[in-house]
Amino acid sequence: MAAEVLVAGGGVGGLVLARRLALSGRQVVVFEGSDRFGGQVSRQTVAGVDLDAAAESFAVRGGTVAALLAELGMQGDIVAPLDAPAWLHRSDGSSVALPATGVLGIPGDPGADDVVRAIGLDAARRAQRDAELPASVGADAATIGELVRLRMGDGVVDGLVAPVVRGVHSTEPDQLLIDAASPRLREELRAAGSLAAAVRRLRAAAPAGSQVAGIRGGMFRLVDALVAECERLGVRLQTGAPATDLTPHALTAGGRRVRGQVVRAAAAPGAAPGRRVTLATLVVEASAFDHAPRGTGVLVAADAPGVTARALTHLSAKWEWVADLLPGLHAVRLSYDGERADAVERAMTDAPALLGAPIERVVDTSSAVWQRRPAGAWPAMAEPAVGEGPAGTGLASVVAQAERVAAALVAEVGEDSTVDGPRGRMEG
Ligand SMILES: Cc1cc2nc3c(=O)[nH]c(=O)nc-3n(C[C@H](O)[C@H](O)[C@H](O)COP(=O)(O)OP(=O)(O)OC[C@H]3O[C@@H](n4cnc5c(N)ncnc54)[C@H](O)[C@@H]3O)c2cc1C
Repeated sequence: MAAEVLVAGGGVGGLVLARRLALSGRQVVVFEGSDRFGGQVSRQTVAGVDLDAAAESFAVRGGTVAALLAELGMQGDIVAPLDAPAWLHRSDGSSVALPATGVLGIPGDPGADDVVRAIGLDAARRAQRDAELPASVGADAATIGELVRLRMGDGVVDGLVAPVVRGVHSTEPDQLLIDAASPRLREELRAAGSLAAAVRRLRAAAPAGSQVAGIRGGMFRLVDALVAECERLGVRLQTGAPATDLTPHALTAGGRRVRGQVVRAAAAPGAAPGRRVTLATLVVEASAFDHAPRGTGVLVAADAPGVTARALTHLSAKWEWVADLLPGLHAVRLSYDGERADAVERAMTDAPALLGAPIERVVDTSSAVWQRRPAGAWPAMAEPAVGEGPAGTGLASVVAQAERVAAALVAEVGEDSTVDGPRGRMEG
């Protein structure tokens, strides 16, 4: 009998690992601390329909999430978002479409008209100097902010990169580690000689079409499918079972010390605390939203006057399945820094300001507070770990890393069961 694996944490990272190990014949137990699986992939019900409460898309890079969905029989449910750019709400209160050829807001063509429109001629000219600088400039930078400042100047960081990084990663460019946010950017900069060329290479390497995709019916369906598959494969799934005192060979859960091969799939004690963000979802009547006035949504400059939201996603414009569920209505989701009791109230004034059109009637609202942990900020651990701590934020990174760790554990199976003897014993 193969040794038992004890997975501490039932988010997507833990569930993907558990499923893969179970498929390889391992006995697996998943201990989830809360009362539900999925972690940051979660459903909420607004105006009587189920929508995503947190993650609502996945990056298509690498094809890892799509491959997993195909294995789960959900290939036909992968959907592309509306093919229209997001917008930028600038510090002077005006809005422009986000330049088309960027990665994390870094422009692939700093001289393009849409870049000049977004940040002005002087900042665009400074950004173009990137092409003249040696590739070594910025080679040692740790963060996206540092790298872009050195190569393209403050105008690009403050005007383009910061709103995108705040909206997508809930952090600041100067806090976002390059290797966690865009693992191949450094290598492409070395090869291409300039940051803009590196961005173009990354864009060219990406599959045609959108860089993200979703699941018809919601990303939370991925969690439902993983849980169902784990159950089918005999994985023991326990909720309300926080795991503590982890060592490579034992953990404590439900008041008992359990022995087995431990994999951490939840934040380690001592990991840097995350930033809190509050999401407010509104379902509204607003006929002027019908033509998607700001494409898929709006990213907001930090000092934009009169708007508190950091970003707005026009869910019913971005995803056709959301529009189908809410005929004659619109769903928008706004994010706010910190834990804000007034997020829904703010959203009701921010949404019309950001979409440039009035709301006629608010049908239903919901809000939720999330914690976004910085990637790469976990302390060193003795036990193997999966999830966004070691993998980086986002489902594409989390799924790929969990699959890699599972493959490595499967390769070790013989040694585990013969050297250390049978595991998975409950010690009362
Ligand atoms: C608001 C928001 C929007 C997002 N949008 C996107 C998006 O659109 N696209 C995208 O790709 N990514 C998005 N993300 C990020 C993405 O959801 C996460 O990177 C990913 O889901 C992390 O998965 P995980 O398994 O590492 O961790 P988590 O989802 O955090 O799961 C960890 C699990 O472990 C449990 N746990 C914690 N401590 C213990 C313990 N001691 N014992 C047992 N269980 C424990 C937790 O309850 C949780 O269920 C978003 C995140 C948030 C918050």
